[in-house]
Amino acid sequence: MKRDYAVIGLGRFGGSVCRELSLEGMPVLAIDLNENRINEFKNIASHAVIADATDEATLKELGINNIDHVIVAIGDNIQASILTTVMLSDMGIKKITVKAQNDYHERILKKIGAHQVVHPERDMGKRIAHSIISNNILDYLELSDEHSIVEVKAGEKMVGKTLAELGIRAKYGCNVVAIKSGDDINVSPGAQLRLQADDILIVVGSNDDISKFEKHLVIDN
Ligand code: ADP
Repeated sequence: MKRDYAVIGLGRFGGSVCRELSLEGMPVLAIDLNENRINEFKNIASHAVIADATDEATLKELGINNIDHVIVAIGDNIQASILTTVMLSDMGIKKITVKAQNDYHERILKKIGAHQVVHPERDMGKRIAHSIISNNILDYLELSDEHSIVEVKAGEKMVGKTLAELGIRAKYGCNVVAIKSGDDINVSPGAQLRLQADDILIVVGSNDDISKFEKHLVIDN
């Protein structure tokens, strides 16, 4: 099902969201104060309009009320981001995603009706830090403030052992939700599954448990 999207603020983050949605064939209304940014997106988004999103009348004229999902990607101007979000929330937009600059900004955004708050730089920093720690850590994603999911390659400490022998659940409190082995993917790996070289495990757990699991079984030393 195609949904209508609007992206407000076409900096590096908003611009990238707008470009990807458009590439996926989604109708996107792109809004920015800056004429150069709008010119850049004229041939990418379905509509690209120079407008100040903090002006409620303008937002209504643009028909923002009829859009299913609005992404607010206004950069450093926290005041404009908050004002825009509160207006969108008052209009009853079904889904509002906002890029936050910091934790205080996030708390305010959640209080005033943002459904999803994202921190792209912070999250990318964490992912990169984990991949730097070990070549065996392929990806790291926060599910919430307390839980994460990691994608790891079976290294020398794991190859040839079963999940039970490694004690991933018993010792580290983590759950292996899937194992990719070449082109095969096993979405309910049993405790007796023996790991082979280059197997990739998808593991879920609390941040502390994931950290223990990484330290003891993933990082070669
Ligand atoms: P990033 O960190 O993602 O690169 P930037 O700060 O570079 O973000 O970009 C934010 C964009 O938001 C800029 O293109 C800016 O013109 C736009 N913007 C800022 N305030 C408003 C506003 N009130 N209405 C519409 N667009 C805005």
